[in-house]
Amino acid sequence: MLLRNDYWSLLCRGRKKKIVALIVILIFLLNGLFYVSLELYNTVKRKEKEPWYSSLHFDKNSYVDETGMRVIVGHYVGGTNGGNLSEDIINSNNYAPVAGAGEFGRPVQLSQRELITARELYSLHSYNIFVSDKIAINRSLPDMRSDRCKEVVFDIDNLPTATVIIVFHNEAWSTLMRTVMSVLMRSPPKLLQQIILVDDASERRYLHAELDEAVAKLDKVQVLRNPVRTGLVGARLMGARKATGDVLVFLDAHCEVTKGWLEPLLDRAGNDDVFICPHIDLLSADTLAYTKSIDAHWGAFSWRLHFRWLIPSTEVLKKKSENPSKPYPTPAMAGGLFAVRKSLFWRLGGYDEGMTIWGAENLELSWRAWQCGARVEITSCSRVGHIFRSHSPYKYPGGVTKVLHANLARAATVWMDEWADFFFKFNPDIALIRDQQSVGDRVELRRNLKCKSFGWYLSTVWPQHFFPTDQRWFGRIKNDKGGCIGLMPGAVGMGTPASAVDCGGTLTLESLVVFTPEGKVMADEGLCLQQGNGRALWKSCSDSSKQIWVQKGPRLKTQSGLCLTLVVTKDSRGVGDPLTAKRCVTDNKQIWHFNRVPWR
Ligand code: UDP
Ligand code: MN
Repeated sequence: MLLRNDYWSLLCRGRKKKIVALIVILIFLLNGLFYVSLELYNTVKRKEKEPWYSSLHFDKNSYVDETGMRVIVGHYVGGTNGGNLSEDIINSNNYAPVAGAGEFGRPVQLSQRELITARELYSLHSYNIFVSDKIAINRSLPDMRSDRCKEVVFDIDNLPTATVIIVFHNEAWSTLMRTVMSVLMRSPPKLLQQIILVDDASERRYLHAELDEAVAKLDKVQVLRNPVRTGLVGARLMGARKATGDVLVFLDAHCEVTKGWLEPLLDRAGNDDVFICPHIDLLSADTLAYTKSIDAHWGAFSWRLHFRWLIPSTEVLKKKSENPSKPYPTPAMAGGLFAVRKSLFWRLGGYDEGMTIWGAENLELSWRAWQCGARVEITSCSRVGHIFRSHSPYKYPGGVTKVLHANLARAATVWMDEWADFFFKFNPDIALIRDQQSVGDRVELRRNLKCKSFGWYLSTVWPQHFFPTDQRWFGRIKNDKGGCIGLMPGAVGMGTPASAVDCGGTLTLESLVVFTPEGKVMADEGLCLQQGNGRALWKSCSDSSKQIWVQKGPRLKTQSGLCLTLVVTKDSRGVGDPLTAKRCVTDNKQIWHFNRVPWR
């Protein structure tokens, strides 16, 4: 019997043996190198092709953070609009319901194989169209109302009628039709006057004859076509002009309404000068699962006028818990879903038609409503699901920034008074286009309607706001060692540990804070500096005494007498170093310089 070694030595001896060994090692190494580069190539390729699909989990930034709030609805990134997909795929309707899929609002899970296709199609709509096409357009949903809401009895015979207006641009067929079907299935026929679909110059083939055919089979539904794309404002106005119902109910084209959704909206809209919004639940952009969104939320906006969901004032929360079925006020609405009496809508000037495509119209409308004698409210008894997405799938002519900035400039110029100066001062890019906006007719409207000031709005409708005022100190609080109190760029979430930031130039909002007479240090996004267990944190502004800082000379003290301290860990100017409250000592890390900055 030959031993292994003997066999080897028989094959090659001496130098030959070494050469063969070398060749084997070389082959081994080359093989390894090949696999590594293949993996690398695949990763890069995957990265290029996948805007979202590194994970199929719920994108928490798109709606709720760890503590359940801070919702980012605004998506200021124009989409890829289908990317490299073929014309045929982009223009075809692949609705093919699978029995049971998504019923009762359950998530649809895909196989690994299906995921590949789903991922490729995702950029078309910035939601999972592959999943949507599997779910019946008349799927069932749970009754989302609370028991208290179910108890409310409406006098159907005496409620006003509704015209539901749904505008769309290049929406998916199944999602759009599911919106329509949900309204038809879950609205008392007596109350539903009509559904008007307004096509904002969609290019997708399946939204033309194929949609007309589908709609022709449905009672009360009609399609209007906008010959040129105006954006959602122009399209909604087109629908509103044709409305024959008493109340206009606006919905986005990717919603699903649930049982009892319409009655509370009509009841409130019919009785008062109010823009009444449903409670917006979540339709997952990945699985289309219907999930409840946090109970206590209201709408507001950041220093940069980005729409935000925030926790309502304690007073509103208290009233809400005493009477959960009663509508409650909100400083601003998200914009996509609301009801209003047709006569009130027109009396208050409809929409600002100078606003194109998307954005800022919700703030403009909210400010106009409040300042001109109406209200904006949310009713938790009307539950409507909406697909929140983190990117816009469609094109913005001229670019998303240009479109959005122009709309924001219009809204700020007409309604914000001194706070418009604040907005433009710290957003110089937008200030540049301020004068290009002709808003004469809107200013005149404001005058004719004898609307109140923005100062009135802030102090009455949203007294908890975090904007600077003449009574609030505004500026930069700089540590003697360097570094300023401020938000780390990108750290939007609540409960973020506080660090000193680069004091930056004069216009850097991240290093500017409001210091209120009551002792709150407020940053943008409604965050207040709060002493935590150890590290100081940026937390949602509240009534907590841990958010009160007393200025004693150059020191900032907590109510228990500790001093705000920069914990220097690096030799640099303190940037990135933690902030905390410590026993007061003679130490320049506890010395703060207050540099006031004029806010307007
Ligand atoms: N929309 C439109 N024309 C446009 C842009 C948007 O008709 O140029 C429609 C869109 O199809 C949707 C509604 O306006 O039904 C709101 O837009 P979107 O859902 O993108 O806004 P979001 O809800 O994400 O803020
Ligand atoms: Mn939407």
